[in-house]
Amino acid sequence: MTTAMEAPQADRSRMAVSETDVAVEIIGMNKWFADFHVLRDINLKVMNGERIVIAGPSGSGKSTLIRCINRLEEHQDGQIIVDGVELTNDLKRIDEVRREVGMVFQHFNLFPHLTILQNLTLAPIWVRGTPKAEAEESAMKYLERVKIPEQANKYPGQLSGGQQQRVAIARSLCMNPKIMLFDEPTSALDPEMIKEVLDVMVKLAEDGMTMICVTHEMGFARQVANRVIFMDQGQIIEQNEPEEFFSNPQHERTKLFLSQIL
Ligand code: ADP
Ligand code: MG
Repeated sequence: MTTAMEAPQADRSRMAVSETDVAVEIIGMNKWFADFHVLRDINLKVMNGERIVIAGPSGSGKSTLIRCINRLEEHQDGQIIVDGVELTNDLKRIDEVRREVGMVFQHFNLFPHLTILQNLTLAPIWVRGTPKAEAEESAMKYLERVKIPEQANKYPGQLSGGQQQRVAIARSLCMNPKIMLFDEPTSALDPEMIKEVLDVMVKLAEDGMTMICVTHEMGFARQVANRVIFMDQGQIIEQNEPEEFFSNPQHERTKLFLSQIL
């Protein structure tokens, strides 16, 4: 009797582990904008703790793909499963998923009329119901993590682009996401500010965050990614660990892309 009961329990715990190890799974996914077929048969599985870099020419569908992962865009065909929840039209579940997934955009989208601290505490207080003092304490912790605690009471317009982007990252982290999506977070920045933002992202990766980053920073990809995914014309053309991806690209389109950016 004891043995019979133990066996299925052991199986269940194994299942639980393997299920929670998958952060994002995309199966046979297609998306259209009206009759434009923007994403074609996307299959992608991202495990917890992975650092994925998505590269590819402009217009290849990189932004659309990561926007689908937190349902800023709807897909029409196939499945997207985020932290065990399939993205459908069920708004309650979309909210659940959005709470787990932080997103940082090219443009920082901070509220200009709120201080940095208020930008960071807005969602924790109003969406999560965190008491103000607790939200502020946590916000200061994240501002220290992105190395700008002294800016807490300033307004976004008083900060440099690099500082604003670090605030945007801290703002996402305040919601305790399990997964962070980045869409070209450094491409609107002056060159001297790119490193300070990448440094924060490197640290986040070292701390074990699951990250999916669209970026053209190939140095970052080499340093941080465990997998680089190359997209062209709405498809995943190839993927590999960074060393192989850069030194031994398989497809002509990947070779052409790399020859243009490296
Ligand atoms: P990337 O991020 O790789 O540059 P995007 O995902 O932004 O590519 O865009 C992929 C393609 O989809 C492009 O041809 C773009 O013009 C088109 N597209 C993006 N957003 C929309 C939209 N809301 N409506 C129609 N077409 C769009
Ligand atoms: Mg884009």
